[in-house]
Amino acid sequence: MKFTTLLASIRHNELALTCKVCGHTGVVRVVEVIELFGPDKQVRDVLARARCKNCKAKGQLDAKITYRGGSDGALVQADMRDREKLP
Ligand SMILES: [Zn+2]
Repeated sequence: MKFTTLLASIRHNELALTCKVCGHTGVVRVVEVIELFGPDKQVRDVLARARCKNCKAKGQLDAKITYRGGSDGALVQADMRDREKLP
């Protein structure tokens, strides 16, 4: 996994974020991440700044880039909506 991947280049994908501290996993759409961090950021920038929703550990997330597929939307969405929004 290359975490130097630009968010803009995977905007149609999703990120499965796993907390290395508590094991909490959430899936978030990259388009939502771009709204927060900007398309010129890399995956590692997101990992450094994101905080685990479960245990509040910061910078302890591991990521897996997943491709959107399948027919149902059963994936759990990581809730990043309470984070700061861009104007
Ligand atoms: Zn955690």
